[in-house]
Amino acid sequence: MLGMALLITSLLTEPGFHDRYIVEGWKNGKKFDLMVTRVPLRDRSNRPVLLRTDAAEGFMNMMTEAAKVGFFLDINYAYRSHKAQRALWRSYQNRGITNRAARPGWSTHQSGLSVDISGCYRDINNKRYKTTTFWWLKANGPKFGFYNDVPSEPWHWTFFPNKIKK
Ligand SMILES: [Zn+2]
Repeated sequence: MLGMALLITSLLTEPGFHDRYIVEGWKNGKKFDLMVTRVPLRDRSNRPVLLRTDAAEGFMNMMTEAAKVGFFLDINYAYRSHKAQRALWRSYQNRGITNRAARPGWSTHQSGLSVDISGCYRDINNKRYKTTTFWWLKANGPKFGFYNDVPSEPWHWTFFPNKIKK
């Protein structure tokens, strides 16, 4: 447990992380300047993980807290550019799946507020089971402002700055 916490601490102080950038954000179909912070992880495409600065801070605090009890919160995807959202949306549309990705310009990933966390579920014999990581997040996420706001997607956690439960 202690080893994991130390690992997280060293990741959090690695140079290059915590850098802030202005990127193109989208909310409700409108473009805006979005300030993001780089989280000390890489996403599933081996790209830097970016979240809106307050969401990034909340996530990093949550990650440290989770590590203390042995959960390593790895991110599959976080902030998504308009181009990436369009590509994702199209790939689902082409496969006839209409409810998995939000329309380009309307995803909370484009406003830097959502993270897809790995290891939140397992599929066994075509049945989906939520993991202890999910249940830890469900119980502790609200302390950091994170909620699973799409129940059919146990990996999808969104930051609500006004709903941080102390
Ligand atoms: Zn998501």
